Amino acid sequence: MQKSNIPRNLPDDSVPVGVYIHIPFCLSRCNYCAFVSYTFSPKMEDGYVEAVIKEINSACMSPLFSESRFPKAFDTIYIGGGTPSVFKPGNIKRLIDAIETNFQPVNPLEITVEINPRTYSEAEFQRLREAGVNRISIGAQSLNDQELGSMNRSHKSSNFLKVFEDARSAGFDNISVDLLAGYPGQTLKSFLHSLKGIVELDPEHISVYMFEVKSGSSIESIIKMNQNCVVDDDVMADMYEAVCAELSLEGFEQYEISNFCKPGMESRHNLKYWSDQIFLGFGVAAHGMVGTMRYSNVVDLDNYLEAIHCNGNIIESCVELDPLTRFKDAMIMGLRKNQGVNLSDMNFRYSFDCRRFVKEILNDLKDAELFVIENDVIRLTSRGRLLSNIVLSRFV
Ligand code: SF4
Repeated sequence: MQKSNIPRNLPDDSVPVGVYIHIPFCLSRCNYCAFVSYTFSPKMEDGYVEAVIKEINSACMSPLFSESRFPKAFDTIYIGGGTPSVFKPGNIKRLIDAIETNFQPVNPLEITVEINPRTYSEAEFQRLREAGVNRISIGAQSLNDQELGSMNRSHKSSNFLKVFEDARSAGFDNISVDLLAGYPGQTLKSFLHSLKGIVELDPEHISVYMFEVKSGSSIESIIKMNQNCVVDDDVMADMYEAVCAELSLEGFEQYEISNFCKPGMESRHNLKYWSDQIFLGFGVAAHGMVGTMRYSNVVDLDNYLEAIHCNGNIIESCVELDPLTRFKDAMIMGLRKNQGVNLSDMNFRYSFDCRRFVKEILNDLKDAELFVIENDVIRLTSRGRLLSNIVLSRFV
């Protein structure tokens, strides 16, 4: 397979990379979704898995992935979507095996699979563990069936409770749960009911995403017709503050704007995105960052399968980023972490006065209590995490 027109002057990096595999199929289309996903049909499963394995097998031979540009070592795999758990555990194992055959695993490995509550049972979770998966992320979104219905989720709260129990019974001791806050029609009371219900299950990790209207999602047109259904900004802020307070009381540490975990249970894979590290992406619409190159695969499933079949080019875009762009990206992602960004490290990595750049660009916000700079580390305050876009948009 050709990955054409790739410049060859990329730096090495000694940190093991993260590998993302995209599974673009779902049981149904959620109203708030703008991701690349297609309605799942079992007859497409094996063909897609074969295609991704072929992409992985040929990656090391391509100029973009040549060994001189980054170490072949990896220590995280994240299989996301879409809904990876519409696939049989045996196919998830084949994808993991392909990565482990072509790249060098570095222990301890973190291998995460996203789970829809209406898919796996205990036996399938056991097979997933046998395949090496040691972390799962379950999309609960809400424990209120009316809200789940209005989101057009394919599951009910009872499905989520069962899938969580099955995963625990199968031995998973690193479970993350996703929750959506501020979906149209949701109230602070109903949201807190969902949050508390999830906390009671004692997961190791909780991600709380504040609802945003995504362009192209079904809810976008619903909101255009009925603005009244949108949750008020003050209620959104109350929800976010309640999440931070409640989860702190329950022993969770916030380590990123939307992510909370029991001590030591951060998502190591996602930390790579927020920490300016190399990551590879495989599958339709996947993207990656290799050295100074950002690439993304074709978005259309038929085009992807056709290109793989014909040994054609599956990369839709491949751009060499200049140091300023990479620095700005590193700030946008790094400021999401509670620990913030070390400006000395940025100076060293990007060879220009990042410290001065940051102070100038944020000068008019310095009394707004959105961020602090201490010991050369800039980080958002709790108010800054609530209003993060004000700071992050300065780096766009
Ligand atoms: S399960 Fe995820 S990817 Fe699939 S439609 Fe819903 S939000 Fe989108």
